[in-house]
Amino acid sequence: MSFTFTIIDDTDDAFLDTIKPIYDLLYENGVLITKTVWVYPPRDEPSSGDSLQNPEYLKFIQDIQAKGFEIGLHNVGSGDYTRDEILEGLEEYREKLGGYPDIHINHSYNKDSIYGGHKRFNFPFNKIVKMLYPQYAKNFEGEIRKSQYFWGDEHKKIIKFSRNHEFGGINTLKYDPRTPYIDPKRSEFCNLWFSSTFAPNQWVFNELINETTIDQLERENGTCIVFTHLGYFMRDGQIDPGFKSTIEYLGRKKGNYKPVSDVLNDIIEKRVTEGKPRAPKLRSLVKARMELQHLMTRVKFRWMTKLDDYAFKDLKKEMFDEKD
Ligand SMILES: [Zn+2]
Repeated sequence: MSFTFTIIDDTDDAFLDTIKPIYDLLYENGVLITKTVWVYPPRDEPSSGDSLQNPEYLKFIQDIQAKGFEIGLHNVGSGDYTRDEILEGLEEYREKLGGYPDIHINHSYNKDSIYGGHKRFNFPFNKIVKMLYPQYAKNFEGEIRKSQYFWGDEHKKIIKFSRNHEFGGINTLKYDPRTPYIDPKRSEFCNLWFSSTFAPNQWVFNELINETTIDQLERENGTCIVFTHLGYFMRDGQIDPGFKSTIEYLGRKKGNYKPVSDVLNDIIEKRVTEGKPRAPKLRSLVKARMELQHLMTRVKFRWMTKLDDYAFKDLKKEMFDEKD
């Protein structure tokens, strides 16, 4: 029996000195994942983290890329970026990392996000999401042609995979066997969408990803794509012990560990060899079910287990509202 495990790492709060030990740990255990980056330093408060402008950090990113980790984009920076800045940022990304990213994930409240926030949801869930997250009152305009934040055309040309719905269990594909899929309502500026397991911080990560659930993933021959912020995982010079022992457990298990785009491309290839379409078009009813599950996951971690970033931020005062 085998299983697939990968992480999509949101770059929030990732500084060279706190993120390098985590990638060293992953590398030592053969767990190759996808790290997103910012081209520019954050321009909004209280976001923080290194960007490709820091030469030492850039060297680290190039080094992990050479080791087999995938690098993806998390908007060109934290804050609002205009089209010209984004296009320049993408060129700088290409020059520094040898090519454009295959994967992009939206960062929290950037106006230039593509189908950001509530826009990932259809009616009526989009209205509910807007109520749950008042910050989404600010509009997202990355896919609005007349906006100065528009870059949807370039996004469609460059980016193959975009992140959407999140679920509260380790076997991501059990919740969404159609990943990666086409969302006909969001196809003008996006290509393929993928789902992930919702683990925004180490509290949720350790709850959902541990020896017991990894054994379960293996029994199910499952695929786990975890969304998290590894930039949070080091405190006082120490990697979170739960995370550390889980990664070491994965290292001993010898599962299938590849970056997110490789995992998704393997799924596509398997479909093609089986004579199926590369990616299914998502029907509204299926999307509605995933939207409901996504919302229930958010509600569970916000109000029931209180492990999500709303609670987590109380631990670290400078930490912001729930971030993507
Ligand atoms: Zn983010």
